[in-house]
Amino acid sequence: MTYSLPKLPYEANSLAPAISERTIDFHYGKHEKAYIDNLNTLIKNTEFEDEPLEEIIRRAEGPLFNNASQAWNHIFYFFSFSPDGGGEPTGELAEAIRRDFGSFKNFKEEFEKAGASIFGSGWVWLARDDYGYLQIISESNAGNPLRMGLTPLLTFDVWEHAYYLDHQNRRLDALRHLWSIIDWDIIESRF
Ligand code: MN
Repeated sequence: MTYSLPKLPYEANSLAPAISERTIDFHYGKHEKAYIDNLNTLIKNTEFEDEPLEEIIRRAEGPLFNNASQAWNHIFYFFSFSPDGGGEPTGELAEAIRRDFGSFKNFKEEFEKAGASIFGSGWVWLARDDYGYLQIISESNAGNPLRMGLTPLLTFDVWEHAYYLDHQNRRLDALRHLWSIIDWDIIESRF
């Protein structure tokens, strides 16, 4: 199977000021493109060639895991946004957030804090377990909660390439901006 870079469901200039067109062009158009190209090269003639990407993430190690997971993580991240995003989740996800974090406001603060605290590159995740309970998971580098048997719902990329052009070293500011473009309908559909 050959992977390609999916077209984003919004214009590259439509998420500013949370994410600029320049960051989309580099982060999605170049960084994510490179992970997908590397993945295509690395799966050739391996047992993973015809496996679903999620299965590669669960079982592969080394460069194949890194590139497969980065390819998946970025699509998951960039397909969480909408120029009309923001606000709060509703329905069962909203109830689960209140149950497990006390309030949506408290969840956002814990999520930002977890993301800001990751040393070096990584991803902060909201994931649910098989019983529907929510957890905030901090992962280094290409880490993905699929490897822990959890279902990812939301992620913020904390690699410097995600925010440096727009926010320089201010990672926490960059993460706080992302709430305004989260499409909660998409996040709820993953729950
Ligand atoms: Mn990234």
